[in-house]
Amino acid sequence: MEKIIFEKIIDGEIPSYKIYEDEHVYSFLDVFPITKGHTLVIPKKHSRNIFDCDPEVAANIGRVLPKIANAVKNAYGCDGVNIFQNNEEYAGQSVFHLHFHIVPRYKNKDTNFDNLEIKWPPQKIESDEFKEIQQTIINNIK
Ligand code: 5GP
Repeated sequence: MEKIIFEKIIDGEIPSYKIYEDEHVYSFLDVFPITKGHTLVIPKKHSRNIFDCDPEVAANIGRVLPKIANAVKNAYGCDGVNIFQNNEEYAGQSVFHLHFHIVPRYKNKDTNFDNLEIKWPPQKIESDEFKEIQQTIINNIK
């Protein structure tokens, strides 16, 4: 089976701007950065996305995310950082190897090419609906 592009990056078959590597995790600059310093953090063990990711893989990623987020923040003194993680095509996933985007955010948009606009339209729902949603999700925790 053809390797996914991030697997080729981990294996050094295609080049990347590596930021960090340990036994379980690899981190590198996104080739199409949303803002200056946009970095990806990926597990070396393959998961398609969050849905098939085992707890150990999640823990390894979780250990590294703060390290890289702080490095990115300290590198350029950005004003904030978003961490994005897309699962399945409808949610914006285009590379099907689990990855986390660390995206620095800048008040000074010009020099840091921060043109990102996040639209997050809040909905108002009633208490009964909250309770129904709460219970439905709880019932599906495995
Ligand atoms: P997704 O849309 O799946 O959440 O994000 C995939 C990301 O991978 C995109 O931001 C895209 O720019 C980045 N990307 C795709 N191919 C390559 C590549 O070959 N090298 C690097 N460094 N980034 C890539």
